[in-house]
Amino acid sequence: MVLDMDGTIYLGDELFEQTLPFLELLEAQQIGCTYITNNNSRSRQEYVAHLERMGIQARPDQIFSSAHGTLEYLSKKLPDVKRVFVLGSAGLVEDLEQGGLALAEGRPDAVIVGFDRMLGYDRIAQTAYWIKQGLPYLATHPDLICPTNQPTVLPDCGAVCALLEAATGRRPDFVPGKPSPAMIEGVMRRNAIKPTEMAMIGDRIYTDMRMAADAGVMAVLTLTGEATAEQAAESTVKLDMVVTNLGDFSHQLMAARSCRTN
Ligand SMILES: [Mg+2]
Repeated sequence: MVLDMDGTIYLGDELFEQTLPFLELLEAQQIGCTYITNNNSRSRQEYVAHLERMGIQARPDQIFSSAHGTLEYLSKKLPDVKRVFVLGSAGLVEDLEQGGLALAEGRPDAVIVGFDRMLGYDRIAQTAYWIKQGLPYLATHPDLICPTNQPTVLPDCGAVCALLEAATGRRPDFVPGKPSPAMIEGVMRRNAIKPTEMAMIGDRIYTDMRMAADAGVMAVLTLTGEATAEQAAESTVKLDMVVTNLGDFSHQLMAARSCRTN
């Protein structure tokens, strides 16, 4: 089982009341779960701590952010890339280093743009320079803004790439984050699971559900986040199930399992 985080298991800082019983059910049924997110401003270790503060015990290998999607892409398509230039948070750098990459001292093998709330002009200028040199250029995820309930707008990776495109004339060569199926394919490969053995639960049709559908994975939309029932009814992306929340999904899961054993 692959779970989106914000809008699916919690909203902002608040865990949904159905989440812990749902996770206990998965454990009792021996169904593994991975948390998937485009937001790589936190490292794996930081996500584990973040979930723990909400009462969820997770192992680092259960977290799969667009940093890990990027590592998967590089190992498959550009295995010679070892030294990278990263425009991103310390958390992103930590995960990329854990995955075997090193920060380049001089000319990098590739440029990786992520989500960086400490963005400075000199770093942007340096990033644009390496992109202009024609090096492989990856953006971790396409999101233009990061959702917030504060009175502000948080420009995200996609918005920074728009700035870089204006300056260099180049768009990223590849964007591994949702809705690219590269993310969920990475989870399947790491866990040796086939698409037919997996389900993805998320709250956004155009990212979570599109990714699941394109990867041939069961797509379960929860109405606890962004998408509404009306949008679900009109969705052009194939939805295998629409649930009001994780409790609703738990009931349907148990009903399906008892049907199978009876
Ligand atoms: Mg979400």
